[in-house]
Amino acid sequence: KICVIGSINTDLVALVERFPKPGETLTGKEFHTFPGGKGANQAVAAGRLQAAVAMFGKIGADLYGQQTLANLAANGVDHRGVAVVPGVSSGIAVIEVDGSGENHIVIIPGANAAMDRRVIDERFAWLLEYDIFLFQLEIPLDTVCYTMAKLKECGKTIILDPAPAQILPDAVYPCVDFLTPNETEMAILAQQEIDSEDDLNAAAQRLLAKGVGTVLLKAGKDGAYIIDRSGRWHMPGFAVQAVDTTGAGDSFNAGFAVSLAHGGDLRDHVRFANAVGALATTSQGAQSAMPGLEEVRSLLER
Ligand code: ADP
Repeated sequence: KICVIGSINTDLVALVERFPKPGETLTGKEFHTFPGGKGANQAVAAGRLQAAVAMFGKIGADLYGQQTLANLAANGVDHRGVAVVPGVSSGIAVIEVDGSGENHIVIIPGANAAMDRRVIDERFAWLLEYDIFLFQLEIPLDTVCYTMAKLKECGKTIILDPAPAQILPDAVYPCVDFLTPNETEMAILAQQEIDSEDDLNAAAQRLLAKGVGTVLLKAGKDGAYIIDRSGRWHMPGFAVQAVDTTGAGDSFNAGFAVSLAHGGDLRDHVRFANAVGALATTSQGAQSAMPGLEEVRSLLER
């Protein structure tokens, strides 16, 4: 069984002709609400793939929180591990998009910031019911590190999506079975510039030397690379008409976990993840574009 420990957000998107100046009030064109947060995105993507998946996180005592719970449930995600925090808002991204597609984004972590060690300690026996864990970096880093270390001690499988990227303490790396950066994130983690294949390999080797089991480098339309101590393999991407890559990375991670849960070969898991990521780019939005199992199967057989 798969467990996601991470962020739950709601994106509030206002479409405007142009951005207001300080002190100015403008009439916008449209308003939309989208469920988001990397944690919830990964849980929903796994749910769409018919996996047994649970989400552990926090929401505020507001309407947004209730909507995100309903959304998790509608996508087959067990959300009994999502707690309501009184007195703070749910995680929110306030987004303005202008006529040329530029955006202004304000992120309020809200209840996500209240994901502390205590939540984990209180639920630890419950967490042990799961086998594969998906982490990202939108809840406090201290909680991510603490939880991964405890789960690793219990022999659990840990997948870390290091996004949004930040420098991680060295103690984190030995806890990570699968690290899934894109090139930008890899450069930040390895603290080096990446301008060539050689740089990329050097960065991956540095992370492996720190204790990571396997690096799965996400490479957009080129698919992904598997890099471990025994070598490096390119798993090509699927040719699709990409219209919006939002949520592709989250879909990749979910796809990988779902395939891993079924057992089999590492390359097949990455191939499956590539298919899920590719399909997620074929329509607008993050969660709205995430594919179901049938869609993924038909792309894999094509
Ligand atoms: P992130 O969103 O984290 O930057 P990527 O853009 O590399 O990550 O996308 C994650 C995965 O989604 C890729 O590894 C690949 O499998 C798939 N993907 C992304 N963009 C495309 C695309 N244009 N065509 C096919 N597959 C894609």
